[in-house]
Amino acid sequence: MDGLKLFRIFGIDVKLHFSWWFVFILLAWSLSGSFFPQFFPGLSAPTYWLMGIVSALLLFISVLLHELSHSLVAQWKKIRVESITLFFFGGVAGITKEDIKPSSEFLMAIAGPLFSLALGSVFWLMHAADGSLFLKAITFYLYQLNFVLGLFNLVPAYPLDGGRAFRAILYGYYKDLKKATKIAATGGRIFAGLLIVLGVFGLFTGTGGGLWFILLGGFLYFIAGLSYEQVAIREVLDNIPVKELMQQKFPVLHPAMKFAEFVKKYKGRDDVFVVKDDHFFGVIEVRRLVKIPRALQDVTSLKQVAVPFGGIKAVRKEESAYSAFRKLEEQNLELLPVLDKNKLAGIVTRKAVLRRLIWELKFGEKL
Ligand SMILES: [Zn+2]
Repeated sequence: MDGLKLFRIFGIDVKLHFSWWFVFILLAWSLSGSFFPQFFPGLSAPTYWLMGIVSALLLFISVLLHELSHSLVAQWKKIRVESITLFFFGGVAGITKEDIKPSSEFLMAIAGPLFSLALGSVFWLMHAADGSLFLKAITFYLYQLNFVLGLFNLVPAYPLDGGRAFRAILYGYYKDLKKATKIAATGGRIFAGLLIVLGVFGLFTGTGGGLWFILLGGFLYFIAGLSYEQVAIREVLDNIPVKELMQQKFPVLHPAMKFAEFVKKYKGRDDVFVVKDDHFFGVIEVRRLVKIPRALQDVTSLKQVAVPFGGIKAVRKEESAYSAFRKLEEQNLELLPVLDKNKLAGIVTRKAVLRRLIWELKFGEKL
């Protein structure tokens, strides 16, 4: 998930998703406008505003620390975490490794909620200790929210943390990731359904928070389904070697070829083309090209419009179709070079991977 990069800590990029700003403003506004005046009446409006902003910021730091505790356990288990993106409903850690041992996944999953509960206890102690009303109000909010964050995430509903821990236990027991995910995701859907029912109930009785519960439940329900599909896709593609999808015959166009000639010869033939000679190696994706006026087509070479393959991650012949799929997705490409001992053996296209996936999902024996 993309976002604005804030800083780097323990080798992890911390990013802010654009939706965060919206939530931050909404939160600070509702805290200073209703929460604090209701529980701690008699203070001035600027004080409430300051309380709202400071609390929202500290909540943001709490969520960040929750995510960091997942990530630090991951790194301790030698699993690389590239980034943490803080967004609408919390945070997501970008973990690239695929095969995670059940015990590692379990520890990683529970680290976050356990940390939140510990942090909640600290805020609770601060709240219980004598202090200014300002501090009392802020810690009152923060201990509750951290407890909610911890407890909510311990519910065994995939993809919540508790659901991940639950899935890790099931995975360790059944040794079947797909089965484990299916059960844990069902837990996720049941919990999501419960949240929606609660939300609807809240709307009718006016106890508040109804819409929020419905939104959260809907989001969770959607993500639970998506996570299962991802695992199913992975299982199918994991068992297909890239060389089965590799295309060995493809037109190799010369980088010096003029664009006008390219259009004349290849119009409508395909949508991705390899451009290569001894010095240049790249790809042309027709979909992504900007419009080139006719007058310029005679003076534009293919090298000028091709995306060079220099910096991209290629796929080796022995790797799985899933690995190719991930690399295509990560780099947002339509085509990958397939290497055999560092030499170009062929290409694999996103279309070929998806075509095979559809066949397997519909007629394969594995599902
Ligand atoms: Zn978490």
